[in-house]
Amino acid sequence: MVTLQTPLSSRLLGSYAQPLQQQRGLQTVEDLLWFLPRRYLDGQEELTEFTEGEYVVLEGTVRTVAKRPMSGRRRSMLNVLISTAVGDLEVTFFSVYGHQDRLIPGAKGLFEGRVGRYGSRWQLSHPSYEMLSDLDDDAPTPDAGHGLRDQGGTPGLGVVARALHPVYLEVRGVPSWTINRLVATVLGAMSDDGDPLPAELRRRRDLPGYVAAMRHLHLPEHRDDVAKGKKRLKYDEALLMQLALGMRRRAQQQAPAVPRAPRQGGLLEAFDKRLPFTLTAGQRAVGEEIAADLARSHPMNRLLQGEVGSGKTVVALRAMLAVIDAGGQAALLAPTEVLAAQHYRTITTLLGDLAQGGMLGGDLDRGTRVALLTGSQSAAARKQALLAAASGEAGIVVGTHALIQKHVQLADLGLVVVDEQHRFGVEQRDALREKAKKPPHVLVMTATPIPRTVAMTVFGDMDTSVLAELPAGRQPIGSFVVGNRLWYERTWGRVADEVRAGRQVYVVCPRIGEEWEERSAVPTGAEALNSERAWLTMTDAMYYGDDDPERDEGVPLRGVHEVARELRELPALRDVRVGILHGRLTPDEKDRAMAAFTAGEIDVLVSTTVVEVGVDVPNATLMVVTNSDRFGISQLHQLRGRVGRGEHPGLCLFVLSGVPDIDHPGTPGLRPGDPNDQRRSPAVERMTAIAATNDGFELSQLDLQYRREGDILGARQSGGTSLRMLSLRGGDDAQIIEAAREDAAALLDQDPTLAGQPHLSYLVNMVVDEQQAAFLERG
Ligand code: ADP
Ligand code: MG
Repeated sequence: MVTLQTPLSSRLLGSYAQPLQQQRGLQTVEDLLWFLPRRYLDGQEELTEFTEGEYVVLEGTVRTVAKRPMSGRRRSMLNVLISTAVGDLEVTFFSVYGHQDRLIPGAKGLFEGRVGRYGSRWQLSHPSYEMLSDLDDDAPTPDAGHGLRDQGGTPGLGVVARALHPVYLEVRGVPSWTINRLVATVLGAMSDDGDPLPAELRRRRDLPGYVAAMRHLHLPEHRDDVAKGKKRLKYDEALLMQLALGMRRRAQQQAPAVPRAPRQGGLLEAFDKRLPFTLTAGQRAVGEEIAADLARSHPMNRLLQGEVGSGKTVVALRAMLAVIDAGGQAALLAPTEVLAAQHYRTITTLLGDLAQGGMLGGDLDRGTRVALLTGSQSAAARKQALLAAASGEAGIVVGTHALIQKHVQLADLGLVVVDEQHRFGVEQRDALREKAKKPPHVLVMTATPIPRTVAMTVFGDMDTSVLAELPAGRQPIGSFVVGNRLWYERTWGRVADEVRAGRQVYVVCPRIGEEWEERSAVPTGAEALNSERAWLTMTDAMYYGDDDPERDEGVPLRGVHEVARELRELPALRDVRVGILHGRLTPDEKDRAMAAFTAGEIDVLVSTTVVEVGVDVPNATLMVVTNSDRFGISQLHQLRGRVGRGEHPGLCLFVLSGVPDIDHPGTPGLRPGDPNDQRRSPAVERMTAIAATNDGFELSQLDLQYRREGDILGARQSGGTSLRMLSLRGGDDAQIIEAAREDAAALLDQDPTLAGQPHLSYLVNMVVDEQQAAFLERG
């Protein structure tokens, strides 16, 4: 009996076991089955031309066969001309023996090998081949004694003739049809009796059994078969993931929590009365959802997605006040010190004397205190904040990661608010949860709109709320791509105009640079060529998750210091006050820079992406992003959301990298990145797309298209290696995930521990273990 765990020994596969193991790491029958065809040939190939060195499998017809003597040898060689859908190919064998009687003009076959070139002719060097007339329907059955070796050494006997020919990744010494035949034989010895998926589910969702699905994928009769097989494998992944999430969610929901019911005449009521604006309908609705969650005796675990500028802070603050009214404390975690400090300022300002509980002039009856805890504040300030948190005197503790450190004590932590979730992992949330006697309620906020597939998977263990609407009177943000010198110069003119009108400007750079650094040098000759090539690969590398801003691969990236100096020297900006902000400043310096900008004492803030999330200065109306193609879509949308927050419209200018007369003064001509360039790069397309829409959800969907699956999930949350088939990019897979989500919920309703489904439960535990292993590995 062959099972998924059966090793791929030579007993089973004969001499083919070794190359499969060594070249592709296939150890078990399961590995072999998962060595899925890379594509299928059906005579209508998408291949349109030959490329030298490419590995191909082609269907071809033998046209001519010529025997030629080899000079200085006794043997002859065989020159065969075959025609294929792509073009004619010459195939040469250095022996006629065994070939001459099979390669007959007019005969059809499959040819597999690497495309070479000889003069003006295309060649297939050392091809394996299989004549279609040789194919028969009788796949050999497994035979423990002899294995599945070819009997008699004839290459590739026993391939099943089908309309679709599966093509596998290259394994030297094992042609595609041989792999296919091995899989066919193995599948022939397996059955769907022990299928982990309940039969009822398979029926209802119209899914084939696992073995049947593999048969569809390896031995398809029609393209439809392939789709059916894929659907089953995808569904499996989705179901296991949803079961794991569902179990986690249920465990959380059953944990005890202190209910924090609203109280009449408390802080929240007093706060609502003094709020300088009316809440949007969305803010009110989400506020009610949260209030209901908080009043329950099980912990809230809610994700609040709100478009940039939709007013999440107020929603969070109202939840925190409700918890304080009910006798607890709340912690607010921010991803950066800049943002933590801003939250602290915003909250103390909004609360006014309500934030001076116990102090002279404060609201004695109802007031509370707000404490700020960051990684590198002065020892004295820190001690005071720690004390206020531990004694319970501070109802609200605002901080960064530092808050999760072990020695931070809270008297009665009732609510944790995490701002900008995508910087916080699951395990960090867990660590914070441990700070309370009973698990606290948790509210996670993110301004990055989350596509449905991702919401259902990565955040599948949470309830979600959406704040789609912006507060009334919000001004639109216009966006433009700056791709030539003329526009670039106008950009700084525009900055001057804005400042003259009393408004403020952000200039964002991809790197900090050095204070003494001169303007990026003009590359010469080979250097320029190299940098052009580097440009394309670099932007992709950067975009796909490489967020080291200091990396520089040939194209001059503008640094904060350099740009600040350039602006200070521009005659047009003579009286403009330019400040800088970046990660290498001390927390104190950062705080001062941000406070000065907020207070309007700085007109232009040149910074890195530290202003990316959450920073809120309503008087800032213009943002210039240099080397904007170095940033991802969501990141640019976030950045852009920093302007247009007040009564004046916002404008965002995306300056492209590699524009000759900006980045390489004195070198005329087009380079990649110029919007006039016909060779439009993916980076330019991204820029154009993001400039064209302000809809965060639309952009997040677009963002998905450009990202690798692993980056979408985030290494920490990817569930190890469990997603092999399922794509979170959307499309049909979204429906599969949705179906699996429903089914998982129904299964768990009936049988919360899956005791009646041992096989399924085993697989779910493997997913959970993989996830935990992935967490542990990363410390
Ligand atoms: P985000 O959701 O991006 O975090 P913020 O919470 O920073 O947005 O809010 C953006 C700005 O909108 C803040 O200045 C805030 O005071 C203001 N704001 C929030 N709610 C409203 C409202 N209902 N009406 C008017 N302005 C509001
Ligand atoms: Mg915010």
